[in-house]
Amino acid sequence: MSRSIIEPVVGRLLIGETWQPPRGDFASSNPADLAETIGHFPTATAAECAQAVAAAREAFPNWRRTSRIHRAECFERLARLIDRDTDALALLMARENGKNIAECRAEVVEGLHMVQYVFGTGRMPVGEIVASELVEKDAFIRRKPWGVVAVITPWNFPFAVPLWMLGPSLLEGNTAVFKPSEDTPAMGQKLVELFVEAGFPKGVINLVHGDGPVGEALVKNPSVNVVLFTGSYEVGKRIQQLSAEYPDRTVAAEMGGKNAIIVCEDANFELAVRAGILSAFKTTGQRCVSASRILVHRSLVKKYAASFAALASKLKFGDPLDPANFAGPLINRAAVEKVLKYNALAEEEADEVIVSARELPPTSGCFLSPFVYTATHRPELRCLKEEVFGPHVAIVPFDGDDDAVRIHNDTEFGLSMAVITESYRRMRLFREECEYGMGYVNLPSIGAEVHLPFGGVKKSGNGHPSAAGLIEAVTHKTAWTVNHGTEIRMAQGLTAEM
Ligand code: NAD
Repeated sequence: MSRSIIEPVVGRLLIGETWQPPRGDFASSNPADLAETIGHFPTATAAECAQAVAAAREAFPNWRRTSRIHRAECFERLARLIDRDTDALALLMARENGKNIAECRAEVVEGLHMVQYVFGTGRMPVGEIVASELVEKDAFIRRKPWGVVAVITPWNFPFAVPLWMLGPSLLEGNTAVFKPSEDTPAMGQKLVELFVEAGFPKGVINLVHGDGPVGEALVKNPSVNVVLFTGSYEVGKRIQQLSAEYPDRTVAAEMGGKNAIIVCEDANFELAVRAGILSAFKTTGQRCVSASRILVHRSLVKKYAASFAALASKLKFGDPLDPANFAGPLINRAAVEKVLKYNALAEEEADEVIVSARELPPTSGCFLSPFVYTATHRPELRCLKEEVFGPHVAIVPFDGDDDAVRIHNDTEFGLSMAVITESYRRMRLFREECEYGMGYVNLPSIGAEVHLPFGGVKKSGNGHPSAAGLIEAVTHKTAWTVNHGTEIRMAQGLTAEM
């Protein structure tokens, strides 16, 4: 489709059943060509955020009382709509967040998988029946929805991440207010339009647009029971601190990473190079699971660095709509500036810079080519500790398996890791000793599937508030005990005599 016939998206808030009149408070633009505007969007006021939360609160009792299977069936209709619109959604995503069209399609498919998973879950057993000390008692563990969920999401997965969170939340009977990233509001709005078309009742999903203060207005609303957040550590921490005011609030936060690949001395060399490249540069290094540290056994490090640098220099970063390109731009100019700052810092901290970054082309878009360096691990090196979120990677030598574990764990993050080895003993050592949420063997550190838990430890997150693991965050367990006898008998030998 030619760009000229693509209509700009008209941004609106959805509060209850009413799409609010459009306002153009801020624009979303194409990071591959900043001159192209994707749409104009309203920044929700504090009053509008409160109205959206109130609409979700009002819809909660009826939605909670709706059969779980009927709630799931709404997702079946949503799945059909996503399937129908896959190409259009992928195109919009490529234009708005700059990921290559093939990756955008894969993300839409990932979102579809989540919706299918949620639909399938509707008819699965839920809860547990447990034994009682007293034979005439039946005891159940049942789950109840918390109520109103605020869903606050990043720009890098503008379709799949909201669905990871919204899917299980709504299936379990919660209602939601969704705030997409200010960098990808059009994708957020298209998603909500599909929910409406699929027949989710009014108020079950509400949409507010805007940046940090809008998210913060939701977090500060005492009527919000659960905050589901995916984004940076700094914002996640702020949300957790603000939420401490509300003792009955659940916060599930998935945050950044400083992920590593460990290339062992027995690694399949070609596979190790390809896994490193995919982990470091797919999505232009802007995945929470992107690897910015490649730990390589000292006996291989020279050869590995040369092969890695040769392949990194050949990668094509360009128009996201051209599937022949490996990856696209960074999300905005601020991201380019941030990565350039880390590249400059790495020039001071590195042993040797082996691939220097170039801006390509500097004016029309936010393109930046890979930056690769070797660095001997030292605890004080900021480049080896802080999340850069761009095509910036260090190759770090290690001397043995225990040394690799030590270096791997010497960051405050613990999201994703990969080990490249032919040895099952080594694989087991890294599986047990490294601190991570998702581990891969002979694969890149990227590549989640929706039915597996997704999330990290340390500064990367507090559990698994996404995908299949989300049910723990969006429901609370209740114990329900029923006496089938005609007398009262108590557990622990407690007498019921009066
Ligand atoms: P970000 O933290 O800047 O923003 C995320 C969301 O929070 C946005 O919607 C933003 O508007 C909102 N926000 C900002 N300030 C807020 C505040 N004070 N209160 C409430 N909401 C606020 O992150 P980003 O730049 O959009 O995304 C990149 C980050 O996300 C990276 O750190 C990446 O690692 C992380 N991420 C993590 C995962 C994961 O599953 N662990 C997945 C994707 C991205």
